[in-house]
Amino acid sequence: MACDFAELTAPGVAGLTPYQPGKPLSELEREYGIVGAVKLASNENPLGASPLALEAAREVLAEVARYPDGNGFELKGALSERLGVEAERLTLGNGSNEVLELVARAFLAPGREAVFSQYAFAVYPIVTQAVGARAVVVQAAAYGHDLQAMAQAVTEDTRVVFIANPNNPTGTWVNRGGLEAFLARVPERVLVVVDEAYTEYVQLDDYPNALAWLDRFPNLVVTRTFSKAYGLAGLRVGYAVSHPQVADLLNRLREPFNLNSVALAAARAALGDERFLARSREVNRAGLEQLTDGFRSLELEAIPSVANFITVKLPRPGAEAYEDLLRRGVIVRPLDPYGLPDHLRVTVGTLEENRRFLQALGEVL
Ligand SMILES: *Cc1c(COP(=O)(O)O)cnc(C)c1O
Repeated sequence: MACDFAELTAPGVAGLTPYQPGKPLSELEREYGIVGAVKLASNENPLGASPLALEAAREVLAEVARYPDGNGFELKGALSERLGVEAERLTLGNGSNEVLELVARAFLAPGREAVFSQYAFAVYPIVTQAVGARAVVVQAAAYGHDLQAMAQAVTEDTRVVFIANPNNPTGTWVNRGGLEAFLARVPERVLVVVDEAYTEYVQLDDYPNALAWLDRFPNLVVTRTFSKAYGLAGLRVGYAVSHPQVADLLNRLREPFNLNSVALAAARAALGDERFLARSREVNRAGLEQLTDGFRSLELEAIPSVANFITVKLPRPGAEAYEDLLRRGVIVRPLDPYGLPDHLRVTVGTLEENRRFLQALGEVL
């Protein structure tokens, strides 16, 4: 080879480890010849997508020869109304992943730091390293965020803190008082990204809605997604709510047509589908209970979760159990990439999917 291209990359790029997604059903079929498998690996909605969203998507297909609305005017209007925030605070992303990346590209660089927790969402280290910034990983407390330690880890060089609430892959959450105290303590020059990808599932009195603090803490960035409770993971729609100046900066960096027209229309329709959302919450609540009971029967210890997935500790390596489950037609998520080699993360499915998973798990233990 004439030259080593890895040496030619921008700082951080050559050292990246690719994100490992959940195994797609089609891949299991191709590699193992298994049909009719159950996928509980990517925290997708087991009910599929909102029927209203699907209808809107079908309608807009007739117009795909046109570029989408690059400003997402209608979706932003609907979000603004629904969330009670000004449209100028919104940044739409191709999934909230993209919004997280925009924050990193806008505010991180070599010589700067991002702080996040041990067992944090895998996208945080990737977007941090991709722009050559330093990741400061703070030890978890009971698998969740240690906000005091995270505040102490903030230095002159810190520009961004990432907090997922609830956290993926552990399902843990931070309460209102804890998060508020953290925000009050962190200097304003540090952006605090509160990633609320699973917020629609959480029904706890002490769980904070970070949007309520936007006026008080201008450095707060709240991200949300249509991929989970709204069932639109394949269409890629997420957004950030922030100070208008932060939104303006992110929107300058954003590609002009980062959301396609089908995704924009479907997301807008999904936002108005209260029935689907209520049903999704109910199926999840029942499924979490079913899985928790099932783990108890198998004498396994699970990390209490408020999201649409639950992480369980096994008496054997998670990667092996994962393989054995694949052969039984059940796809879950091994967590060795997260530093949890004895754990598996399982998405809450329908009652029947959960039953199949629990049965297969009992067999492989
Ligand atoms: C699933 C998830 C997201 C959402 O990703 P999208 O790009 O919106 O599909 C964001 N943050 C966390 C913590 C997640 O688990």
